[in-house]
Amino acid sequence: MKIYAKNILLEAGWAKNQTLTINDGIISAIQDGQDPDAEVIERPIIPGMVNLHSHSFQKAFAGLTEFRANQEDSFWSWRDAMYRLLQSVTPDDLKIIARYLYCEMLTQGYTSCAEFHYLHHQAHGEPYADQAANSHAVIQGALDAGIYLRHCPVFYHYSGFGKLAAEAGQRPFYNTIESFQSLVESLFSHYQNNSEVSIGIAPHSLRAVSKEQLQQLTQWWQTGPIHIHIAEQMREVEDCRAFYQQRPVEFLLDTVAVDERWCLVHATHMTAQECQNFAATGAVAGLCPETEANLGDGVFPASDFLSANGQWGIGSDSHICISPWRELRTLEYSQRFVRQRRNILASESLKHVGRYLWQTAAQQGAQVVNRASGVLAVGRRADLITLDNTCSELCAREDDQWLDSAIFACNDNPVVDVMVAGKWRVNNRQLLQQDNVAADYQKVLARLLRQH
Ligand SMILES: [Zn+2]
Repeated sequence: MKIYAKNILLEAGWAKNQTLTINDGIISAIQDGQDPDAEVIERPIIPGMVNLHSHSFQKAFAGLTEFRANQEDSFWSWRDAMYRLLQSVTPDDLKIIARYLYCEMLTQGYTSCAEFHYLHHQAHGEPYADQAANSHAVIQGALDAGIYLRHCPVFYHYSGFGKLAAEAGQRPFYNTIESFQSLVESLFSHYQNNSEVSIGIAPHSLRAVSKEQLQQLTQWWQTGPIHIHIAEQMREVEDCRAFYQQRPVEFLLDTVAVDERWCLVHATHMTAQECQNFAATGAVAGLCPETEANLGDGVFPASDFLSANGQWGIGSDSHICISPWRELRTLEYSQRFVRQRRNILASESLKHVGRYLWQTAAQQGAQVVNRASGVLAVGRRADLITLDNTCSELCAREDDQWLDSAIFACNDNPVVDVMVAGKWRVNNRQLLQQDNVAADYQKVLARLLRQH
């Protein structure tokens, strides 16, 4: 197929009057001028966003813990509420929740997602007949929606530093190294020929995985992607220092060979030295600004990390927000609050904050989710979205002003059409090839929340 773009954001910047040839989902040519056979796209085209951190089931209770349960309400009381909800989720529920969530992501401009999947077993820890039942359910939700999925099964073994036994609420997550390896191997062989799914691994955190297990897993999984939660909360930093006499990022970098296959999710609490050492590995920081704000995690040390050329992307994590536009806005605003300055996340070559944020998050996030995505160029996937340049906030703008205004001034979703690997998945704000996505989801939710 061919599409003709009046305006398109390519790697080097905005270009006008370009024809893209797309074969098997991949951009095979980009040429100046209008090819008469091409579908004409009037609206500005930009690369689809990469979502590098999702826990799909958490969508089901977004917004339900926004009341004060005690004086010390924190991440930890939110986590207890999440554990309670999990008691009654089945694989069929999970598939419906995941499909709804991924459809919503598509309509907001995400075209790839990394799922950090840790709900493996039934409520009291009994395994399903197929230990990968929940993984297959989430992956099927993504395939039905039409978003690219990097599925990262989580290894979760302990409840805290010092090899504390997993608590009752954590039994659905628990695996031994052996059961985890067999889960990953079965998923890997099941999906190895599917171009829309790939498999990574996710040691949950330094509190849920021992030093020896971390080393064992990284020696076993030598070439694939690795995602890990790290330094999200000060309590985790203090517990890590008490047990290992090192801060979390410092400890991780000293313990295993972190490289460009790694995504360090959150990395909120780092010293300047940790920022430098992390950046030097080539790994990607997985920032989840809306969730981090919601959970009271803290503010990412962006100036130290970016001055060391650190790489980063964005994730929707708890799904308190499914908008990459709001994630990026909150990321920049959190820096402005702390630094008391404007236009912080920008560079010498990308002075417009909106374009810097979108292009960097898409391109660098793609490294740990879907390396063929994130940039519109020959040889890359045709993962792209169009912007509503006729709405009041985007009209009479051009080029970099579109992204500045879309991120900072639009109150409504600016995405009109979405293409994933050469297939239109959203057209004129409507999901294509989807029935009952919202109705099925609402039915599941009505049952789960009644039981909650
Ligand atoms: Zn997370």
